Formats: sequence, structure tokens, C-alpha cells
Amino acid sequence: MRRAVCPGSFDPIHNGHLEVIARAAGLFDEVVVAVSTNYAKKYRFSLEERMDMARETLASLQGIIVEPMGDGLLAEYCRHRGISAIVKGLRSSSDFDYELPMATMNRQLSGVETVFLPAEAHYLHLSSTLIKEISVLGGDVSDFVPRSVLRRILAGESGSGAAT
Ligand code: ADP
Repeated sequence: MRRAVCPGSFDPIHNGHLEVIARAAGLFDEVVVAVSTNYAKKYRFSLEERMDMARETLASLQGIIVEPMGDGLLAEYCRHRGISAIVKGLRSSSDFDYELPMATMNRQLSGVETVFLPAEAHYLHLSSTLIKEISVLGGDVSDFVPRSVLRRILAGESGSGAAT
């Protein structure tokens, strides 16, 4: 079985993420959406909420599972899970500059390959950070996130700044 991982904090998951994950699902037998937590980072949504949103919005796609990544190395996570590829969406050359050393290091550490998928043109400008900034200032983000995520953003379910 060819298994890949799409890692990220998904705070929250948005249409650009979904498009890349769906394309990864077309290339691999199983795609693990690994939701990361960096304890130095302040999140808008808790780990449970970020995983729930990912599960809700990916439920209709076959071969995708959503899991917490834990706080260890991605290379080790891949080794333990029998994952042979990390799939990353690239929005720009700065994404590439950031990702290239990590891809090389992950390959050296555990043999895992990184597959880069160019972001769909409609979603090049999307980031969770920008979406959160727009929504906090009262802007309409309904074009950028799936419906269930929009509901949670509007409900402000998480209060401000979940820790995990
Ligand atoms: P981070 O872990 O840096 O917080 P995100 O959760 O925002 O990352 O995104 C996870 C991954 O999703 C990124 O590493 C990138 O591969 C991909 N991604 C993010 N935004 C987009 C987008 N607009 N189009 C395509 N892929 C994206």
C-alpha cells in the first residue's frame, strides 16, 4: 500500500488544503492528514476542533484518515506509520525555499520522499492566517473555507486562542 501524509496545523482547514489533499488521494492508496501541534504556537482552534473540521470536510473522500501528529519529528512519524511520501502544496517560490531543506532533511533522516503539488491558481492566496485575520475584522471568508468551518468561525466556538 502506498501511504502518504499531508501534515499541517490546519487552523482552520481551508479550500487550498482540501484541494491538495484530494489530489494526494488520487495519487496514493491512503492519505493521512496529520494535524500538528507546536506548543510554542497559539492556535485559534483546539487540536480536537482542528481534527473535527478536517474529518467533517473530508468525510466524502475515500482513503483519507485524519490523525494528530503528536510533537515528534515528521520523519519518525512517517517511519512508524509506513508512510513513504510527504505531500506539500506549493503556493510560491518562498514556500519552495522553506520546504526544500526540510524535504532533503526528511529524506536523509528516514528515506521519506516529499512530493510537491503546485497550488491551484484559485487558492494561491489562501492561508489559515489570512483567513483568521479577515474573519476577526468582520470580513467574509465564505469563499475560502468549507461550510462547516465557516459555521465554527462565525460561532466563535473556541473562544480566543486555544492552547492545543
Ligand atoms: P502550517 O503547518 O505551516 O501551519 P498549514 O496548516 O497552514 O501549515 O498548511 C499545511 C500545508 O498545506 C502546507 O505545508 C502546504 O503544503 C499546504 N497549503 C497551505 N495553504 C495552501 C494553499 N493555499 N494551496 C495549496 N496548499 C496549501
